[in-house]
Amino acid sequence: MSNVIEMPVFLLKTDKGTQRRQINLEVVTQYAEQMAEGAKFDPIDAVYDGKDYIVWNGFHRVNAYKKANIKMVRVSVTDGDAAEAIHLSLGANKDSLQRTQAEKNACARVMITDPRYEAWTDEQRANHIGVSRSTIARVKADIESGNNSGQGDSNVVSLTQNETSAVGNEEENVDSSDTNTDSTKPKYPTDKVGNKIPDHLIDVFARQSEIRACMNTLDEMRRNTEEKCEALDPLWFFLPLNPLQTQTANTKRIYRFSLPYCVCPMHGAARLEDARDCKLCKGAGWITEDLYQAVPREFKEEGRGDG
Ligand SMILES: [Zn+2]
Repeated sequence: MSNVIEMPVFLLKTDKGTQRRQINLEVVTQYAEQMAEGAKFDPIDAVYDGKDYIVWNGFHRVNAYKKANIKMVRVSVTDGDAAEAIHLSLGANKDSLQRTQAEKNACARVMITDPRYEAWTDEQRANHIGVSRSTIARVKADIESGNNSGQGDSNVVSLTQNETSAVGNEEENVDSSDTNTDSTKPKYPTDKVGNKIPDHLIDVFARQSEIRACMNTLDEMRRNTEEKCEALDPLWFFLPLNPLQTQTANTKRIYRFSLPYCVCPMHGAARLEDARDCKLCKGAGWITEDLYQAVPREFKEEGRGDG
């Protein structure tokens, strides 16, 4: 049973591991413009665990409301807990044509590794998240062979887990775990689209936690300020919370879209000596997510893809 209620957008928690898709800034901008013009959107879906409103569907809309400076939003609220929110989020975008293979793989990975789905068949898993059974089988094989393509706990990509990398997302769950402890299995770090990161770029990809630390600091400042304002602390009486939240989100976005996303698809790893003249990466050898979004599809050769 869900209840649609109107509530301040800042009460919505987007950092509880329920985000299954990368935020597309163009979509956010487009939604924000429509919202500013008065367009009505479906309510955000959230689970209320007695303390937090945990969003499990509607991350683009949440970001767009904030961008459009709309404070009160409609939310379809179900009582539950964080686990329930995660469960719902896995099935949230199953009909979306915009999901990337990496996003689907990440959902498949949860379905395979989360003990709560242990008793599920591959068909049930596939149906819940809206992928083919071959996707489940392939991700399973990847896990068994120790190949963490795009979503793992033991390669550098784990620093940018899908659910922690959204625009305006709170609390980045930075995992600085080792890059390779199990030497019996062939492992190599991959970028967000599943391509191998060449040796000379591994350090750059691994060090993105430094940028994420800046983002976390911003979140902490914002959270502290929200607490003061919500508690009606007299000292903070004149602090304009909403602009501060918007600015924080904007600043985070600047950091976020400077993070390494993938090896430059225009020349790949093999021909880095030519990278200087590369119009896309300008010699860096790697690109950010927004640059990647702008790359024509024919150049996007994902590490492993199916439908
Ligand atoms: Zn390049």
